[in-house]
Order: sequence, then C-alpha cells, then structure tokens
Amino acid sequence: MSDLYEDRKMQMFPHLTPAQVARVAALGQQRRVPAGEILFEQGDQNNQFMVVVSGAIEVVQPVDGHEVPITVHDAGEFTGEINLLSGRRSQVRGRMRDAGEVIALDHDAFRHLVQRDAELSEIIMRAFILRRMGLIEHHQGDTILIGSRHSGNTLRIKEFLTRNNHPYTYFDVETDHEVQALLDRFHVGVKDVPITICRYTYVLRNPTIEQVADCLGLSGALSPEKVRDVVVVGAGPAGLAAAVYAASEGLDVLVLEGNAPGGQAGSSSKIENYLGFPTGISGGALAGRARTQAEKFGAEIATARSAVGIDCPTRPYAVKLANGDVVRGRTVIVATGAEYRKPELPNLERFEGVGVYYAASFLEGQMCGGEEAVVVGGANSAGQAAVFLSQLTRRVHVLVRRPQLSETMSQYLIERITNNDNIRLHTRTVIEELDGGEHLESIRWKNLDTGEQNESPIRHAFMMTGASPNTHWLQGCLALDEKGFIKTGTDLTGDELKAARWPLPRSPRLMETSLPGIFAVGDVRSSSVKRVASAVGEGSICVQLIHKTLAEL
Ligand SMILES: Cc1cc2nc3c(=O)[nH]c(=O)nc-3n(C[C@H](O)[C@H](O)[C@H](O)COP(=O)(O)OP(=O)(O)OC[C@H]3O[C@@H](n4cnc5c(N)ncnc54)[C@H](O)[C@@H]3O)c2cc1C
Repeated sequence: MSDLYEDRKMQMFPHLTPAQVARVAALGQQRRVPAGEILFEQGDQNNQFMVVVSGAIEVVQPVDGHEVPITVHDAGEFTGEINLLSGRRSQVRGRMRDAGEVIALDHDAFRHLVQRDAELSEIIMRAFILRRMGLIEHHQGDTILIGSRHSGNTLRIKEFLTRNNHPYTYFDVETDHEVQALLDRFHVGVKDVPITICRYTYVLRNPTIEQVADCLGLSGALSPEKVRDVVVVGAGPAGLAAAVYAASEGLDVLVLEGNAPGGQAGSSSKIENYLGFPTGISGGALAGRARTQAEKFGAEIATARSAVGIDCPTRPYAVKLANGDVVRGRTVIVATGAEYRKPELPNLERFEGVGVYYAASFLEGQMCGGEEAVVVGGANSAGQAAVFLSQLTRRVHVLVRRPQLSETMSQYLIERITNNDNIRLHTRTVIEELDGGEHLESIRWKNLDTGEQNESPIRHAFMMTGASPNTHWLQGCLALDEKGFIKTGTDLTGDELKAARWPLPRSPRLMETSLPGIFAVGDVRSSSVKRVASAVGEGSICVQLIHKTLAEL
C-alpha cells in the first residue's frame, strides 16, 4: 500500500535527470528568482512551464485569505498540471520559497517540448493527469458550488464541471452546516441556487453553463478573423478523434462543444467493448484522456460553445455560435452526434435533474441513494445503465416496449440483466405517468398486452429511449435522410447534389456532405454504426479526406 503510494507520488512529482533538464533548457530561459516572488497566481492564464534548477517553489491553494499547502518543487521538479496544455486558468499559486534558478518555457515552447520529446512528454503528461486527479479528489480548486438535490440545475452544473474535469467543492443547502455562513458571506440566498462561486470572488446565481465556462476560463475568446484548417463541431468520440488526428498531423484545429467533451459516451458508467480496455473504461475517463491528447497536439477545444448555424454558400465556412461569435474554417467536420429522444410524458421537463435523468454515470447513480429506479429503453445504453445502477440501488426496473431484448441489446448485457436478482425486466411495457412535488415521487407504467397498470413510489427514472440526430442547428444547409441524419458520399443522390448546388466536377468524398469541404462523422451521419469505435474510426479517417480537400483550395 505504501509502496503504491510512493510510486504514485513519484509519478506525480518526478525529478528530471540532468540530461532531461538540459533538453528543457534548450527551449526556455533560465533566470534567478528571489525568495518570495510569485511565479504564477491562482486564476492566471497561459502560465509558463518551469523547471527548478536550484532553490524551491511552493505551490499553495489560496482559500479565503489563507493558504493551503499543496506541494514543494525542489531541484529537478517541474510546475504545472493539465491546464498548462490548454492555457486555462491556474487553480493554485506558485511562489519561490527558497531563492534559486528556474528554467521557464512559454506556451508555444512547452507545446513544442511535449510534441517532439517522447520521453519527456510521457513523464510530464502522466504527472499532469495525476496532479489534476489529485486536485479533483481533494476538492482543491478555485470553485464552490452551492446547490440543492431539489434543483435540476444543480445536477446540470455538477455534470458540466465533472465532465470538464474541473475541481470544485460542493455544499448542499439541505445537508451542509457551513452553508449559511457561505451564503451570508457572498450575499446570496437559498432562492439563488445553484450558486457558482468562481475563484472565490465572482458569484453566479443560477447560471447557464456558458456563464460558468466563461467565469472559470474554460473557454477563451474565439477570433472571428482567424481561418482554421478545420472547425470540428461536437466533442464526442468522433469529434475528439478527428481533433487528435488533425492536430497531430499539423492542422490548425478548433473544436466547438455545446456542453462538455465526451458526448453520449461521456454519460456512460462503463464502456466494455472498446478495443484495448478489457476491464472497461468509463465514458468520462475516455473523454478526459482524448481531450488531453487532442490538446497536447495543439487542438483548441472550446466548451459550452454551441454552433447554431453555418453560413453555407460562403467559403471559408463561417460557423455561428449561440453567444453571437463566428468562427471560420476552410473545412468543417460535423460530429454533433445524437441525443435521447424524450418520451412524450406530461411532467417530464418538470422532473429533469430531480428524478428524471438522461445519463447514468456515477454522479446520477449517487442521486439514487439505495432506492429503487426505473430504466426506460432496450438498447445497450439502457442495459449498461441497469447493470450499473443495480449496484447502487435497491432494485432496477427495466421497461421495454418490445417482447424481448435480443434485437436491440448485446448478448453480454442481456445475460447480466437476466442473471441479476436486483434487476426486474418488464417487456411490452411503457412508462405512462410521472408524479411528485419538488422531486419525482411516483411512476406509472402499463403492460401493452394485458393493459395492466402499475403505480410505484419510485423516485428515479433513467430515460434511454432511442436517439435523434443533432442536426437542427444546420438549418437546412446539408442534405439529410428521412430521420434527420446527414447524408454523405455515395448516399447522396444526383437530385440532392443539384439542389445543394454541388459546384465541383468530382463527386462527394466518403463522409463528405452535400457541401464540399463539410464532412459528417459518427452518430450524426446517416447509415453510420452507432458505436464508440466506429465514431472514433470515422473521426480519424476523415482527416485523410480533409488533407485532400485542403490541397484543392
Ligand atoms: C449511456 C450510453 C452508453 C453507451 N455505451 C456504449 C458502449 O458501451 N459501446 C459503444 O460502442 N457505444 C456505446 N454507446 C454509443 C456511443 O456512445 C455513441 O455511438 C458515440 O458516443 C457517438 O459518438 P459521436 O461523437 O458521433 O456523437 P456523440 O457522442 O453524440 O457526441 C456529440 C457531441 O456533440 C455535441 N453537440 C451537439 N450539438 C452541438 C452543437 N450544435 N454545437 C456544439 N456541440 C454540439 C454534444 O454535446 C456531444 O458532446 C453508448 C451511448 C450511451 C448514451
């Protein structure tokens, strides 16, 4: 146990060898620093990467006028965590404790180092990821969230912060004693929940995720003049794969994500059939790694930035964002995936986040607190949710419209469901009514063959009922199939190309839409296989076609 701890600590705070320090020095500047100098402040952006040559840097978390010690870097150690890759705000303060010398690398030089030096890249990336995990585990960040289990918006912001791997401290107005002191201090009341306090300074009352992202510096300003090689819309598995391959091949890539990276996969507790992870991997972990990988290669990822339209006839293409910004790309990859179709139930929206959920990750599982839950749907996502929730709840009822699961669910999940005493499968059954007060309190369902109805005092329903493509934002720019998925390549008919005024003598390439240079990958693409691996495959293959298209311009 203690060996493991020591091992992890060494990976988190490694000492570089003199030869490794010399390679860093070749890209940076060495300078003397007196004791007491602040090297980086909590909230600062685009900080330098520093290696201690002599002396020591102390890293602390400023909280409410005092400092919580985090670590001390001595000779051979380096500063930073995952935010250095993206230039996002520092969560901590760094001060020279003992006078000495440091080597400092600016953002570009640091990127150059991690992209070109494989040995140092591995050491630094591992340390950065472990340091960020440490900040999250110990709630050592600059963000406070005050919320309530009776507020759906609280869950929305928790999900946003968690999926962005942003450390925060949570206080619940119903259960945490310290809450009143906090509310008084920041001059807010229970009616304002959820309240986000950024950098212990800025108070956001019941904010949107865009406001949270702006306040925390999760997304920077996007230049309307800069023309990128490729703008990727959507950071699910397909968009992230496109970003990793495009950036690693030297293209200038901007990724726009309406929420947090990960997409549908990010809402899964465990993906077990993705190649290379025999014990499975949570969607959140997969997305976090992919995002770090994309940022390491230089992709810019803007979260909480929804695309609301493309100016179709003009090239370079202009993608319009919900906040009014416009970004430009010589090519565009549409990777906006799909989202659950909401069943038509009268009270559905009222209970969203307070009993009705569209994801089944650890965060939503925690909300169930050992009670019973209902999962609606018969696809793999519903099966995974049921198996996962069976560990956290007293009983899971799976409601499926069809007579059996075999047409819609993988065999390994069917076996787990049928062999699990905690899961009860109700075939030919539909959900009919949700009822409750501030929180969902009861659910009624009906058997379609017998007409028999059942009303149970169940407070948690997970809706996993088929997916609709996220294509409404395209506003008719691209040819779609009858279900609204984007048509590409040879699936596009002559009439569709004529209607779209396809201007080139060549036909659309594989995954190219009815507009040249706009590609569609992953779940949003008509006739694609709706799986993580195929989304990742399409995102990466597409980059080859982007190169060919850029060569034409
Ligand atoms: C709970 C669950 C479990 C699953 N388990 C498995 C599994 O075990 N194995 C497997 O292979 N597959 C699984 N799947 C399916 C798999 O997750 C999807 O096939 C995959 O995520 C599709 O990836 P994508 O990138 O094409 O789209 P998505 O994952 O849907 O990502 C699309 C992204 O685009 C963003 N977006 C949408 N509109 C906009 C806009 N206008 N502007 C900016 N951004 C936008 C979304 O926020 C989202 O992040 C599961 C799905 C779910 C829901």
